[in-house]
Amino acid sequence: MAEFVTLSCPTCGGKLKITNDIDRFACSHCGNEHVVKRSGGIVSLSPVVDGLKKIKTGVDKRERERKMGQVARERMDDMERQRSKELAALQNEKSRIESEMARHRRILEQLCRQRL
Ligand SMILES: [Zn+2]
Repeated sequence: MAEFVTLSCPTCGGKLKITNDIDRFACSHCGNEHVVKRSGGIVSLSPVVDGLKKIKTGVDKRERERKMGQVARERMDDMERQRSKELAALQNEKSRIESEMARHRRILEQLCRQRL
């Protein structure tokens, strides 16, 4: 047997009578949809819009997390680029020193030959 609960619409304040076996209804005064929440024998209404806002917030949060992940990836890419730049600079320095050593070795060999 259905029991009636009298509540006021959280959106327009109109008096509503709802049966205890429904969990969602549209207000007969303003037409807004509401979700019926029952906890600890207390019946309360919350507009469906709130639920949508929560979903939207969830989406925003995911979007933010996605962006943060993107920023972190970009930062790592920057570090990677910086590191390979430094590595290239070190390799340049190494080959410069190597060619300098080779030049010195040639001079030394020439000097040795001249003495002989
Ligand atoms: Zn209403």
